[in-house]
Amino acid sequence: MSRFWSPVVHDLTPYVPGEQPKLANLVKLNTNENPYPPSPRVHEAIQAELGSDADRLKLYPDPTGSQLKASIARHFAVPAEWVFVGNSSDEVLAHTFQALLKHDAPLLFPDITYSFYPVYCGLYGIDFETVSLDGDFAIRVDDYLERGTARAGAVIFPNPNAPTGRLLPLSEIERLASGLPDSPIVIDEAYVDFGGLETIPTAVTLIKDHPNLLVTQTLSKSRSLAGLRVGFAIGQPALIEALSRVKDSFNSYPLDRLALAGASAAMDDEAWFHQTRGQVIASREALTARLQVMGFEVLPSAANFVFARHPGHDAAQLSAALRERSIIVRHFKAPRIDQFLRITVGTDEQCGLLVTALEAILR
Ligand SMILES: *Cc1c(COP(=O)(O)O)cnc(C)c1O
Repeated sequence: MSRFWSPVVHDLTPYVPGEQPKLANLVKLNTNENPYPPSPRVHEAIQAELGSDADRLKLYPDPTGSQLKASIARHFAVPAEWVFVGNSSDEVLAHTFQALLKHDAPLLFPDITYSFYPVYCGLYGIDFETVSLDGDFAIRVDDYLERGTARAGAVIFPNPNAPTGRLLPLSEIERLASGLPDSPIVIDEAYVDFGGLETIPTAVTLIKDHPNLLVTQTLSKSRSLAGLRVGFAIGQPALIEALSRVKDSFNSYPLDRLALAGASAAMDDEAWFHQTRGQVIASREALTARLQVMGFEVLPSAANFVFARHPGHDAAQLSAALRERSIIVRHFKAPRIDQFLRITVGTDEQCGLLVTALEAILR
């Protein structure tokens, strides 16, 4: 507290990210990073951008990120005018809250979801209400339709949801977007690339028919670039323009030259993307089966993490016992989920170390 603070700062409750310990030899399964490196083309593109000409960095980057937008547009087969890019999807989400989610009626999101959402509401003075997940931790679209029809506010949730990992079928998102045509509907697809091997269940395919639908994604998870800080949104031009207006009132150059070059190369390397996401999906299924053998209840996950509880063991104690063995997972001390562990899917070797440690702890 300080008398120098603006009033809004007094009332903020900032988001607390998962820890990034400085220790070596940790099995780090706590913040949903990808265990595989990014495409080698990312390094090549960043090197090329630096080039032999060290002078390159004296110039501002492209304020619109047009090459990156083109790469994203190509990946999704949408017009580049539908794409907005930002310095992480958290930044894109922050602009979205300010640009699209503040209305007279309260913003709706699940009671169990990404804990950054209420933080943005606090920062921007947005009124919100939470909607309970059902007993199986699934989102029930009818609850949103009921509340939204009475008083149209905006809706946001991740799909797959975090930290549950549960996926809502696209048909349900379509029902929501068409049922509340006057409400902005934002789907935070941080994990959607792990949602299916054959086809990725992204709501981007619904955008052409739904002017109220905005989809956000990140390069932090499925493209192994959490350290580069790049995210984007896709929607019809009116929604994208709202985000651009906020961005250009905040920071004209949110993405630096290296991030723009690296992110564009990552989007272009389709083979690397499909290979690594396929490996994570396979490891997730194997890890789920092994946890179930040990007696864990594991929610069906479409993400790069699993959310699991053991009927005979307290989650906080399990988390502490794993930490003693240099394995860190995430435990949330929140109502309804405080008996769960959220475990990032690592390499098969990391998953093996986790399983061995849990077997020893449960014994
Ligand atoms: C990781 C995550 C993000 C943030 O991604 P960044 O691009 O790294 O900021 C957004 N939403 C959800 C649900 C996430 O889990």
